Amino acid sequence: MKITGIRAYALEAPLAQNFGFSQWEYSRRRAMLVEISTDSGVTGWGEAYGPSKPAASAVTDFFGPMLIGRDPRDTEALWHLLFARSIDYGQKGLLVAAISALDIACWDIKSRAAGVPLYRLLGAAETASIPCYATGFYFGGPDPLERKFEREAAIYLDRGFRAVKMKVGLGVERDAELVGVVRQALGPGVRLMIDANHAYDPATAIALARRVERHDIFWFEEPVSPLDIDGYLAVKRATTIRVAGGECEYTRFGFEPLLRRRAVDYAQPDLCACGGISEGLKIAALASTYNVHLTPHAWGSAIGQAAALHFYAARPRHPGSLTAEDKMIECDQTENPFRTEMMLSGIRFDRGEWFLPIGPGLGVEIDRDALGRFAEYQK
Ligand code: MG
Repeated sequence: MKITGIRAYALEAPLAQNFGFSQWEYSRRRAMLVEISTDSGVTGWGEAYGPSKPAASAVTDFFGPMLIGRDPRDTEALWHLLFARSIDYGQKGLLVAAISALDIACWDIKSRAAGVPLYRLLGAAETASIPCYATGFYFGGPDPLERKFEREAAIYLDRGFRAVKMKVGLGVERDAELVGVVRQALGPGVRLMIDANHAYDPATAIALARRVERHDIFWFEEPVSPLDIDGYLAVKRATTIRVAGGECEYTRFGFEPLLRRRAVDYAQPDLCACGGISEGLKIAALASTYNVHLTPHAWGSAIGQAAALHFYAARPRHPGSLTAEDKMIECDQTENPFRTEMMLSGIRFDRGEWFLPIGPGLGVEIDRDALGRFAEYQK
């Protein structure tokens, strides 16, 4: 089997309602998808996390020509070919995200060609669904946040979620107030996480952690800059709340110090950024070696979400025991037409769980009309 074509689609869609987090406000949704075609007729899809047009260019103008004529099932060899050709310019960031998209598409092809769902190729037993947590409570909108958050909490409970993650990063006082509102609205039995998207310095993050400990917070995500491992450790030492992070980290080389130093209790690689399935497997091996939980960050289209699900389905529960807690994967609740309007069949959400597809590969069938509508740029 040989790769005969690689297309990149930079997708863009305006949002009905802007939403913000600790760093900026979104008015449009963007994503970058890759489609690899082969001489055998099997095609595969992948996705890159981050700026869509530069990632598309990295795929088609830089990496793409290196893959034409190669067998897409040689995932390990191809990953190292691409990484070796870009290590001088991009050990982290956009180029690794572009490699991620190509790697995921190759794994899609490899499992389609084998006639099995990707999670089976990755070594998972037959599995129907994975419990997930809602990511929401973004800032902005016409209502005061207290009222909006109360309403949002009720919606997530109604959708069957037993775990939710809220944004923080508005300052300790305001954050603590809003965490109280959400905890009150959820009741005591629902798992609640907070995510600062690295808005704070260690002292401020610690102050916030101590203020909200009484609300039974399951984890504090990205309390400080992803570049500040000592800051992560300071937060961990100062609070009983678990610390999570890793969505801004790349490759096994980036994750290794984070894991070896136990800077996080939960490592959160994004398969569409960290280096794809091939590199995700190595990061997972490291996390297991250092006894750290791993649960993928997932904020992309149906393709990115499916990649995270297949990958996570093949990870064991951690730590292993009869009473080990359920695995829990991210389920973003913000407006995302690339997840809700671009998939003819594939992954399915119901009552707080993601259901895996039974077909081969990622199992996602893309609606080409919708793809054409959203594709601002393709080459
Ligand atoms: Mg996050």
